[in-house]
Order: sequence, then C-alpha cells, then structure tokens
Amino acid sequence: MMLPCLACEARFVPDDYFGACHDYNRGRDLVAWTCPRCGNRDEIRVLPGELGFGYRSHGRYDVLDRIRVPGMSRRRHDLRLDISLDRRVWRVPTRVLTVRTATPA
Ligand SMILES: [Zn+2]
Repeated sequence: MMLPCLACEARFVPDDYFGACHDYNRGRDLVAWTCPRCGNRDEIRVLPGELGFGYRSHGRYDVLDRIRVPGMSRRRHDLRLDISLDRRVWRVPTRVLTVRTATPA
C-alpha cells in the first residue's frame, strides 16, 4: 500500500507517510502532514479505513477526496491521535499551545 502526496504525486510507504504527520488538531479532528519530498503541507482527516482530504472554509473542513486504506484504524486521545495499520501504531501529538508570560525586565 503506497500513499500519495496530492501536491507532487510522490508515493510513500505507510511508515514514511504517517511518520510525516504532526500536530493533531483534536477540535477539528485533523492532522497536519508535511510532504517529505516537496514540503507541501496538507491537512488530513484520518477516518477508519480511509484518509480524507479537503479544505477549510467558513470554519468547517469539507472532505473532497478520500483514499481508502484498508485496515487502518484510529483512536483519539486527549493530546494525541493514534493511527494503526498492520499492527503498527503512529502517534501524532497535539501541539499544545502554551501561554507565555511576559518576562520581567
Ligand atoms: Zn509532495
């Protein structure tokens, strides 16, 4: 099973593909993905058995394209998303926004 970058059409084995996922946005249920080949950044919704690609508009995310990934499953945690396929698990952490306090002068 090879998974494509929709920008440059390079194809990746699951390990390389899911390893490039970062920053799980739990509120929107999206993971960020940066293509290891061309550097294009995309947002993907990981669904049971498929990946959804779309775009954000008016505060929603509309899935336009789906790529079937038989056997893939997902589990949502508070601060990360686990993606499972073929007995492997990739953990995509949520980027925690820290509130910086002003440094005293
Ligand atoms: Zn690419």
